[in-house]
Amino acid sequence: MIDANTPVLDNHMHLDPDHGRGIDAVEDFARLGGTHLLVVNKPSWYLGVEAEDGEDFRPVFERTLEVVEAASDVLDGRAWPILGVHPGLVSRLVDERGYAPDDARDIMQGGIDLAAEYVASGDALALKSGRPHYEVDDAVWAASNEVMRHAFDHGGSLECAVQLHTEASESMPDVAAWAEDAGLPAHRVVKHYAAGRLEGPTPSVMSEKDRLETAAERGEPFLMETDFVDDPDRPGAVLGPKTVPRRVRWLRETGHEEAVRIAHIETPERVYGIDTVATLSDA
Ligand SMILES: [Zn+2]
Repeated sequence: MIDANTPVLDNHMHLDPDHGRGIDAVEDFARLGGTHLLVVNKPSWYLGVEAEDGEDFRPVFERTLEVVEAASDVLDGRAWPILGVHPGLVSRLVDERGYAPDDARDIMQGGIDLAAEYVASGDALALKSGRPHYEVDDAVWAASNEVMRHAFDHGGSLECAVQLHTEASESMPDVAAWAEDAGLPAHRVVKHYAAGRLEGPTPSVMSEKDRLETAAERGEPFLMETDFVDDPDRPGAVLGPKTVPRRVRWLRETGHEEAVRIAHIETPERVYGIDTVATLSDA
């Protein structure tokens, strides 16, 4: 345990109870002092879903809701689902399945529409979208930006946060402006896999010491994540589920008490409207 009153949130993790460790990974997280999780659905094709329309994403989202419920049972706090469409799907649709970029866009926007229904009903906390982190041609880039802006439209009308998977960057003024145009305040856009600093959206910082040190010393809102993928075929691909609680302990030992409060209490409230203190059980 860190201590009984300190919430510890991993802002971006995947759980795959069918192929990976599932709840076993949550137990590791909790044992080290982790209390809250934002669980992002795995990319649809990892679950064997070759989407042809938005409705095809339903089993992917349903499986995520199930594992989130099981995770909440294990945690002193709770887990919430974040649902959406992985931006890498555009390449799978265009390059491997022969769709035109516009048609790929429509399929992906359909998936975002379905995810938005889960947010509207209160079953999901936020949306996930973005654009490829690798080089793509202009038509695919344009289609991807349209998908992301579609997610911002829902975020604006539902007043929910949107997590993004994007290219590496420390300044995203275009993305922030698009969100604001859609009525979504830029700080409710979260760039996952972020460095320690970012202008525009809120950074969800990968929990490596150097990135965290930068974020902590900056004093601005930030979140912490591992992007644990729970994929037995990619064991070393990202950080493990114990990393965020370990790094919280390290931040406190190195005098960054305030940064821990920012990342695990203030910023979750500011971005998602969640109260990580009130949702801590007394157990
Ligand atoms: Zn991820």
